[in-house]
Amino acid sequence: MGKFPEADERLLKKKICMKCNARNSIRATKCRKCGYANLRLKSKDKAGAWSGYDGRGIYCRCH
Ligand SMILES: [Zn+2]
Repeated sequence: MGKFPEADERLLKKKICMKCNARNSIRATKCRKCGYANLRLKSKDKAGAWSGYDGRGIYCRCH
């Protein structure tokens, strides 16, 4: 929980190049540095890390 949700949101609205890890704007379709088209959302990165996490400090084993 950040004190500044707007700032957190802005940080998450980035795409990360899968090749060189450069940060690109959320609207970018290609990396501005290397031109690589495979960009991932930074926010999805966080969601992925928390998938399988039930929010109470233990891993859910029901699925
Ligand atoms: Zn790149």
